[in-house]
Amino acid sequence: MTDLGNSPASRDIAYVMHPYTNLKKHKETGPLIIERGEGVHVYDDSGKEYIEALAGLWCTSLGFNEERLINAATEQLRKLPYYHIFAHKSTMPVIDLAERLINMAPVPMSKVFFANSGSEANDTVVKLVWYYHNAIGKPGKKKILARIKGYHGVTVAAASMTGLPANHADFDLPIANIMHVDCPHHWMFAEAGESEVDFATRLAANLEKRILEEGPETVAAFIAEPIMGAGGVILPPETYFEKVQAVLKKYDILMIADEVICGFGRTGNPWGSQTFNIQPDILSCAKALSSAYLPISAVMVNDKVADVVSDNSGKIGTFGHGYTYTGHPVSVAVALETLKIYEERKIFDHVKAVAPRLQDGLRKYADHPLVGEVRGTGLIAAVHLAKDKEKREMFDPALAVAPYLYGRMQEHGVITRAIGTDAIAFSPPLIITEAQLDKVVDAVGKGLDETYAWLK
Ligand code: PLP
Repeated sequence: MTDLGNSPASRDIAYVMHPYTNLKKHKETGPLIIERGEGVHVYDDSGKEYIEALAGLWCTSLGFNEERLINAATEQLRKLPYYHIFAHKSTMPVIDLAERLINMAPVPMSKVFFANSGSEANDTVVKLVWYYHNAIGKPGKKKILARIKGYHGVTVAAASMTGLPANHADFDLPIANIMHVDCPHHWMFAEAGESEVDFATRLAANLEKRILEEGPETVAAFIAEPIMGAGGVILPPETYFEKVQAVLKKYDILMIADEVICGFGRTGNPWGSQTFNIQPDILSCAKALSSAYLPISAVMVNDKVADVVSDNSGKIGTFGHGYTYTGHPVSVAVALETLKIYEERKIFDHVKAVAPRLQDGLRKYADHPLVGEVRGTGLIAAVHLAKDKEKREMFDPALAVAPYLYGRMQEHGVITRAIGTDAIAFSPPLIITEAQLDKVVDAVGKGLDETYAWLK
């Protein structure tokens, strides 16, 4: 790259190790430096405006300058900037937020544990599953079934549950007792002529077969995102979760819903579990819990799990798990205010109202020569590119077609995210308007045509 002297870009290259970045290539490309945000927009250091059509990382649900969240944080910082909830201590914001989450849970839940990220929440989930089964005298029941292309984070246990190659390669993952079953992507993996319902039946049968091969007495839990996000916005085929949960029930296996993306309105309902008929024993959430203004995540567990964990901690003398920042009062205060705003402004109804503009808008491109599948619901969607749609033949990864499209859209003032080399994901702030969604859709159209021309 050109000599940048002591510019911010060159200092970034010199000092920052970027997550989810080709670090070698970054030395050539440098960063796009984002300086400020307003509503659904962010602005780079040259002043260029972008619609953030992925809400950062599927998270800034209320956009980038919600004054009430800033005030909630400031007030809490002045009152009590930090306190913990270890060893019988508590704080008012924690009590209020835990109660609010339990009251809005998609199924009856009993207790909330707070952490700081989706990964930490899911690592907590793994530990709870193991603790629970030891406590009920089933120490052999330890295996956790996750899914190929599922995304659950990057800490050691969470990354193990994530079903994407780059999260395992050279990290010596997955760890023992975590394994992966079928990805439920109908368009990609269904047999010729197989309906969604038949595909779901086959996947549930495969799941049962796997459980029997492993030994049902060794299988503890199954974890799933209602919609797979980072794996490519993959929606469950019709009847999938009903059938999967029937199998889990038969073998006394816990159901875990990872609502880190779907939670808080993304699909138009408060929870993805409601959209897809999931009845979890354990639920993790994060991201839109605080509109991402401060880091916070939560794990909810039902009575069955909570009572056992409580009794076992009594036997051991303490529940030996917790982070310094579990229930950080400032993050919690911001989360509480976020949930109040969702309710007062009927944000989830807004999602339902505007979603067709995104979903129908993107589906206009379903017959574009580059497009294999357009999928999504609510305010989450993907455009999946294919060299040959009928044969489900993808482009050569070396061409990096989706990243090219992503780059074109960025030129047109819309930031999205390329999922691998084939798909582009959309998950805008939940406050986005129909007119702004039209701009996103227009940028996709322009980008697709430019990518098509580039490929010729
Ligand atoms: N689970 C899901 C479904 C996610 O999408 C993510 C992050 O994108 C995580 C867990 C991990 O969350 P975090 O990046 O906050 O650790």
